[in-house]
Amino acid sequence: MKVKMLEKKDNKVKLEITGTTPAFTNMIRRTILQHVNIPAIDSIDVIKNTSSVYNESLAHRIGLVPLTYKSGMSTKEDCKCKNKGCTMCEVKMVLAKKGPATVYAKDIKSTDKDLKPSNGDAIIIKLYENQEINLEATAVIKTGADHANWQPAVIGYQYFPTLKISKDAKNIKDIVKACPHDLIDEKTLKLKDPYKCDLCNQCIEAADDGAVTIETDNTRHILTIESISGVDPKTLMLEALKETSEKLKELEASLK
Ligand SMILES: [Zn+2]
Repeated sequence: MKVKMLEKKDNKVKLEITGTTPAFTNMIRRTILQHVNIPAIDSIDVIKNTSSVYNESLAHRIGLVPLTYKSGMSTKEDCKCKNKGCTMCEVKMVLAKKGPATVYAKDIKSTDKDLKPSNGDAIIIKLYENQEINLEATAVIKTGADHANWQPAVIGYQYFPTLKISKDAKNIKDIVKACPHDLIDEKTLKLKDPYKCDLCNQCIEAADDGAVTIETDNTRHILTIESISGVDPKTLMLEALKETSEKLKELEASLK
């Protein structure tokens, strides 16, 4: 198996995995979506809310604030404290502000310096004169399998494409023009950058019957991981692999 980095940003990576199977790449995808522990605010206790927003709406907005990742934390069920709640499975935070002011994610003050809002500039609410919020929040560790609020990323993969255009195709210009990403080279009739092709099939639809085909290689995948949490894609992938190998070890032990 070979892995090549195609694109790398803070919150997004695009990898090419060669010599794999759809089942294997999908296992990585599903493990990240469903079984990686990440933190998110789960509940709030409202002490004062004289803003223009109901407590429920405020709680919903605060629940969506992405939090930074702290390695080693676990769900309350799996924690050594046995569901009582300790620093390894939950973190308390406070948010208190008086208007007129804009309340940002960075105004949520965490009791743990390693676990706090990852994007401090996200706006939660605007407060006007004589408006005030004061609340306590509890962030807990869960997985995407518990609730979509703990789904850490958007992930997809596709097979590597090879474009084949018949030399007899009559309307080559229309086929070239049909590609929304302008990927078809009119002279060579090949894809200029196959990694940008998203298999939209517009070129096939623009051609006469059968003049254009896209062959895909199901052993060569382009995997895109875009984090929507405060956890970077590399950490998500490593945690997913750790989770998978732990499950395999459990299986091995039970078989023995
Ligand atoms: Zn605990």
